[in-house]
Amino acid sequence: AQLDTLDLVVLVALLVGSIAYFTKGTYWAVPKDPYASSANLNGAAKSGKTRDIVEKMDETGKNCVIFYGSQTGTAEDYASRLAKEGSQRFGLKTMVADIEDYDYENLDKFPEDKIAFFVLATYGEGEPTDNAVEFYQFLTGEDIAFESGATAEDSPLSSLKYVAFGLGNNTYEHYNSMVRHVDAALAKLGAQRIGAAGEGDDGAGTMEEDFLAWKEPMWAALSDAMDLQEREAVYEPVFSVEEDEMTTPEDDSVYLGEPTAAHRAGQPKGPYSAHNPYIAPIGESRELFTVKDRNCLHMEIDIAGSNLSYQTGDHIAIWPTNAGAEVDRFLQVFGLEDKRNSVINVKGIDVTAKVPIPTPTTYDVAVRYYMEVCAPVSRQFVSSLAAFAPDEASKTEIVRLGNDKDYFHEKITNQCYNIAQALQSITSKPFTAVPFSLLIEGLNKLQPRYYSISSSSLVQKDKISITAVVESVRLPGASHMVKGVTTNYLFALKQKQNGDPSPDPHGLTYSITGPRNKYDGIHVPVHVRHSNFKLPSDPSKPIIMVGPGTGVAPFRGFIQERAALAAKGEKVGTTLLFFGCRKSDEDFIYQDEFKTYQEQMGDSLKIITAFSREGAEKVYVQHRLKENAPLVSELLKQKANFYVCGDAANMAREVNLVLGHIIAEQRGMPAERGEEMVKHMRSSGSYQEDVW
Ligand code: FAD
Repeated sequence: AQLDTLDLVVLVALLVGSIAYFTKGTYWAVPKDPYASSANLNGAAKSGKTRDIVEKMDETGKNCVIFYGSQTGTAEDYASRLAKEGSQRFGLKTMVADIEDYDYENLDKFPEDKIAFFVLATYGEGEPTDNAVEFYQFLTGEDIAFESGATAEDSPLSSLKYVAFGLGNNTYEHYNSMVRHVDAALAKLGAQRIGAAGEGDDGAGTMEEDFLAWKEPMWAALSDAMDLQEREAVYEPVFSVEEDEMTTPEDDSVYLGEPTAAHRAGQPKGPYSAHNPYIAPIGESRELFTVKDRNCLHMEIDIAGSNLSYQTGDHIAIWPTNAGAEVDRFLQVFGLEDKRNSVINVKGIDVTAKVPIPTPTTYDVAVRYYMEVCAPVSRQFVSSLAAFAPDEASKTEIVRLGNDKDYFHEKITNQCYNIAQALQSITSKPFTAVPFSLLIEGLNKLQPRYYSISSSSLVQKDKISITAVVESVRLPGASHMVKGVTTNYLFALKQKQNGDPSPDPHGLTYSITGPRNKYDGIHVPVHVRHSNFKLPSDPSKPIIMVGPGTGVAPFRGFIQERAALAAKGEKVGTTLLFFGCRKSDEDFIYQDEFKTYQEQMGDSLKIITAFSREGAEKVYVQHRLKENAPLVSELLKQKANFYVCGDAANMAREVNLVLGHIIAEQRGMPAERGEEMVKHMRSSGSYQEDVW
């Protein structure tokens, strides 16, 4: 009988869950193009924005649109690459389009002689990216209505030819579900797919190779379908980059790292969002580890007076700045050192091309603030530089790297080189012939990084805490340390703030005071992103949290909140935390704070630890979870919420499996039934993940 009740609860929760899911799009809706107001060079702004893709393609003489649904910029990058390749190799008239910039009701009027690409990332628990939520709802919704009035049964999209590629992660249960569902929905509506629907797997680390392997047969199929003639690809710039000798970097019109025109004018104003960050003061910063060779930062980011707000469990995005050492390397490799402070104007050659960086700016600023120059490099991008190599020997080497996947892995990928390091490994001569436009096109925009807020909004509504481990690793096979962009920048800010005698132990150097010194006094650009990772509204409900390492971040917020409620005399349910780290005296972060919370909460707070390097055997949180199966099962019977945060690749998956076993074993059910129960818990929102 108990199971029946549980099933009913699950069904109701499922319904509530899907309502929440489908309203989330509007909640998260963000303003469009960040530079639309600032960059009059922006193509879309110039030609007047239409939301009608058919009209837009007609107006601009395009026969191929590449829509992207992107969260972190990778899908957008793949879309741009496909657009370039389509144009350069096959003479297609391509345009790239943010999927939220267009309407979908007239896709039934999409001309038969044109082609639409859908490059779609799957986000979180099989969800569309923020910019693809509306598209997804439209295409898969019950009340789908095209302009012609056609319904799903009428094959309204029979004139639409499309190509599909998905970006996913197989460590998530709903692997590549976005592209799979969109592909199925398009097919159901009568559209005709060209080539196979590609799937890239970030979980297996094969995204780039999956993409490369998928696109060749796709191009062959598309050439057949559209009768395209392949030609030798020559570089055709999407942007023009002109040096402006009349303007100095001090001129008010020049962007020196500011994210928007209002910031440049020194008058930033809210609402602050993913396109308009708040320059927040860092109130306090400190080290959490006690060992010398690894660092974990605790920072308090002050949002008072910004009108920004957050809820316990939300995320904050930090907008980083590249390290000076890497900016120098990049400028040196491309022969731009001497003119690093020259002012440049970047314009879209074609009206549909969006200039991805604020302009006018300088080479130095573009590389420091706006371009992702430290990321791993793709084989395709390296091979696009062959035509601009400084001599025949390096050209031959680049061509070999481009053609030989294994060789590229050995020489570049396994060495963890960024683009400038990769070219340095080929020759010491500078690549002065590479057009800067090619670098803007080929590299991503510098992306903000997200952090799980580690404070409670109830306790400190104007101060957001973050807990970030500094990425400084020697990956197997690599000859140098790989330094994370954002965490090393934050580390430098912390060192500066605390007047540390060695502010730059990694030799990286940063422009700490920011554009026009606007970040002086230790400020950092941020925005807040709301999440679904939430405490139960009733604090008397028990909760189980699994958060090893920095995975404990949101749970510090959860515990801070429940301790405050307990101190106010509210009834707080069992609050069980599984925490893991290497050693109790090295990286057991917030240990002292937890003692204080323990005093406030008494028996209702239980912290179970797993130290992986203290005993003969390595012990992880999932082992502790198993050992405590009766307690976990009992709390679940009391309708506990279950939370997992941290490493997506291994830990989260293991915990998921172990929980299924615990439920099955403790309730005397077959193993599959345990797994199903966990699935139900996920869809009903009582099993929540915040993993990365
Ligand atoms: P990046 O420069 O982005 O590098 C990341 C990693 O990529 C490096 O460690 C390295 O392994 C690899 N890499 C980088 N360059 C190369 C190269 N050239 N070749 C090969 N490999 C390379 N992190 C926390 O510490 N605490 C949190 O609370 C937290 N919460 C998060 C919440 C969410 C929702 C998400 C999505 C992520 C969260 N993260 C958190 C992770 C965080 O966003 C960053 O990814 C992390 O801090 C690393 O950022 P970085 O800029 O320092 O490193």
